[in-house]
Amino acid sequence: MSPTRILVTGGAGFIGSHYVRTLLGPDGPGDVHLTVLDSLTYAASPANLDEVRDQDGFRFLAGDICDETLVGALMAEHDQVVHFAAESHVDRSIVSSAEFVRTNVLGTQVLLDAALRHGVRTFVHVSTDEVYGSIATGSCAETHPVNPNSPYAASKASSDLLALAYHRTHGLDVRVTRCSNNYGHRQFPEKVIPLFVTNLLDGKKVPLYGDGLHVRDWLHVDDHVQGIELVRAGGRPGEVYNIGGGTELSNRELTDLLLETCGSSPAMIEYVVDRKGHDRRYSVNWGKIHTELGYKPRKDFAEGLAETVAWYRDNRTWWQPLRERSLRLARRP
Ligand code: NAD
Repeated sequence: MSPTRILVTGGAGFIGSHYVRTLLGPDGPGDVHLTVLDSLTYAASPANLDEVRDQDGFRFLAGDICDETLVGALMAEHDQVVHFAAESHVDRSIVSSAEFVRTNVLGTQVLLDAALRHGVRTFVHVSTDEVYGSIATGSCAETHPVNPNSPYAASKASSDLLALAYHRTHGLDVRVTRCSNNYGHRQFPEKVIPLFVTNLLDGKKVPLYGDGLHVRDWLHVDDHVQGIELVRAGGRPGEVYNIGGGTELSNRELTDLLLETCGSSPAMIEYVVDRKGHDRRYSVNWGKIHTELGYKPRKDFAEGLAETVAWYRDNRTWWQPLRERSLRLARRP
């Protein structure tokens, strides 16, 4: 049988590149050819794909998901899409949301239209728990209303609903995943864990928002990849699947663990003005993907965090230029 040809958007970013390396690695399905389409924004790191660059069944294309001609030509050559490409940093969406709407909403629409036109068999749309908004107690099931608060979350909710609309209206086999906060190595050092770790490795303080009591459910990127792959291979058309990690922590608790792992003291915490509209707590119920597809987070959080910190300690050449790039962008008016 010929291999399944999968178009992976955003595959030079954090989660997309883990997905690609896993699928083409020894534990991958073995019957897939992957094309990564990535426009290489500030958040991309082409080195994330070095391990697979020369492998049979892998191709990289630098290009924009909003480019209708390019996307149309690519869809004609692929059986499935796994769609990661996005502007992904909440703080940046608060400063300016235009690029979030362009990539996350319009880009997704371009992909869906082309997928429909060219008869793509399956379209996995990678969404986020942030589409549900904040929940004080309990956990959001997939039936929970979508109620995003940040411009990032609103753009992801728009694309998520658009993807589901293509299933309901046109019958396109769309599957949506909504996961919690990812962590692991090769995450861009603007996100909280790599930001704090790289600050501490440089002897700098860590900026903790507000009272530090915002709660997130931490999911190791390998478990996220496991969940996405289960949905691609065995999920049902038109369905949403939550993917959670099972480790809920306040930001203060997370910071204390990072300080301990990096051998630093609480004196390294600098409380800063809270993020505007900062959601207090996210929590997803992942019973559906567990029952239907056998998903279960495998990575112990303490072990995953220690491995992540060790990786940043050993791979300064990977993150230092990205940090400088991130700081330059933050200074831009
Ligand atoms: P990332 O920022 O590390 O990577 C995004 C990638 O998309 C980059 O390589 C970038 O170059 C590419 N990209 C951006 N705009 C593009 C465009 N117009 N055309 C083509 N490529 C483009 O993001 P990530 O953390 O790997 O997140 C991947 C997906 O997972 C996103 O859709 C994000 O919303 C979702 N998600 C992430 C998290 C998390 O904790 N990181 C949690 C939930 C959901």
